[in-house]
Amino acid sequence: MCSGFCSLKTEGLKIIFKDVRGEKKFNELMRNYTSFRIGGDADLLIFPEDIDDLKNVLCICHDKKIPLFILGFGTNLLIKDGGIRGVVVSLNEGFKEIRIAGDEMITAGAGAGLQALVNFALKNELAGMEFAVGIPGSVGGAVIMNAGIRDGEMKDIVKSVKIMTDDGETKVLKNEDIGFSYRNSDFSEGSVVLETDIFLKNGNSRDIKKMMTLLIADRKSKQPLSSYCAGSVFKNPPDDFAGRLIESAGLKGFSIGDAAVSEVHSNFIVNRGKAAASDVLRLIESIKERVFTRTGISLEEEIKIVGED
Ligand SMILES: Cc1cc2nc3c(=O)[nH]c(=O)nc-3n(C[C@H](O)[C@H](O)[C@H](O)COP(=O)(O)OP(=O)(O)OC[C@H]3O[C@@H](n4cnc5c(N)ncnc54)[C@H](O)[C@@H]3O)c2cc1C
Repeated sequence: MCSGFCSLKTEGLKIIFKDVRGEKKFNELMRNYTSFRIGGDADLLIFPEDIDDLKNVLCICHDKKIPLFILGFGTNLLIKDGGIRGVVVSLNEGFKEIRIAGDEMITAGAGAGLQALVNFALKNELAGMEFAVGIPGSVGGAVIMNAGIRDGEMKDIVKSVKIMTDDGETKVLKNEDIGFSYRNSDFSEGSVVLETDIFLKNGNSRDIKKMMTLLIADRKSKQPLSSYCAGSVFKNPPDDFAGRLIESAGLKGFSIGDAAVSEVHSNFIVNRGKAAASDVLRLIESIKERVFTRTGISLEEEIKIVGED
């Protein structure tokens, strides 16, 4: 519900961003853009049409000090119930191209789906990114999160990443300059991933498909794929598994409101229907407290928590 102050703010944002060509949605409910199906309104969600349009958005936000958040496919996100102040940018329009960029090399736009990239590699008989099969999300989100599994992660296949800095400058960073680490990367604050060059190896589709089938079967047996969730909530601590620690603490199925520790995989929290972000946050705190009391291990969140209470 938009109050009087809120509609004044909306009118201001309409004027400030009037020259942006891409679609603009004001006071947009963010739960519709996350796999958790949780999250309040964003003041303004923009889908820039192309790189110039994106640059315009970034420069306006930079000059006017308007907070900016870049949304991928929302599969690793908990957006709080108060929503997101300022501008949310989605690259789902205009940044989705995937193309062959040379021998054993693909260039993929940040707004493309990671699964579209996996399928493109398979179609072109390029091996090396089978590990990514079944990981939901965008190419941009996968780069930022260094998405992967134990057998491989984005760090292993990214050659370089083209970014736009928060003041609209375009740069190309090499793999070694990105600071990839376990489910993390180290881009400068406010950078937007535009596209990435991926290097793979010539392979054959039969072997690639065989590996993918095995990995998908493994995923189906271990993850609550039909539930609203955001993947692993916590990073695995060194030499252990967050899921094992949570299960050993007797928390499988433990719930607060409609937020519950998954019965299928204890490192997943599922939204049983009407969970609020506040339920998930309380559940996260309870899990951390119980695991710490029992083992002395501090679990660290893998999911990104954004927005206002
Ligand atoms: C069922 C399920 C299974 C999963 N399995 C795995 C798994 O096996 N391995 C794994 O690593 N992850 C897994 N995940 C988590 C998630 O899919 C990945 O982290 C994914 O890479 C996130 O991509 P996204 O586009 O959804 O990013 P989002 O969730 O939208 O965003 C994540 C972060 O990336 C930033 N971001 C996104 N795009 C850009 C961009 N273009 N420029 C700058 N910043 C950007 C956002 O600001 C945010 O900080 C799983 C999730 C689910 C729901």
